[in-house]
Amino acid sequence: MWAEKSGLGWIGKNSLLLNKQQGSFFFIAILLLDIELAYDHPVADHCGTCTRCLDACPTDAIVQPYVVDGSKCISYFTIELKEEIPTEVKGKFEDWIFGCDICQDVCPWNRHARPHQEPEFEPHPDLATMRKHDWEELTEEVFRKVFKKSAVKRAKFAGLKRNIRFVTK
Ligand code: SF4
Ligand code: SF4
Repeated sequence: MWAEKSGLGWIGKNSLLLNKQQGSFFFIAILLLDIELAYDHPVADHCGTCTRCLDACPTDAIVQPYVVDGSKCISYFTIELKEEIPTEVKGKFEDWIFGCDICQDVCPWNRHARPHQEPEFEPHPDLATMRKHDWEELTEEVFRKVFKKSAVKRAKFAGLKRNIRFVTK
């Protein structure tokens, strides 16, 4: 909300902050200062008649434009949910085992998004070589190694194993 008020972009129909230059693939930072600066104003909504994110969401989590039902979102199921994933959504995850970026990937404003230049964000090199079999056989030792200091640890080893089972079995 503050980012939108600050003119960093508009909230798109996928509920994410977008701007014309960067799409939605960026982080937002805040500076707390005791001086008043010249500030920007909210910008116009440029989603227009586009409905790509609504059409592409595999679990119909974008229940209406600008409204995501978090309890239907793959990111919720694969990161936050502590119990088993409901069978009703079986076959709908398109092999996502931690989070989901589909509603960002299909967004036309992300067509010109540029890769980051931050070495700290690079994934562990072993990840690029892992195949389906390696994921099915994932051990806690490998999990600790390839996801050291990664947000994937939020799901914990048992959670990621559950997610892998859900999309592979
Ligand atoms: S992250 Fe994936 S599941 Fe969640 S709203 Fe976007 S497309 Fe749907
Ligand atoms: S996919 Fe289309 S409707 Fe969805 S956020 Fe992007 S521009 Fe807006």
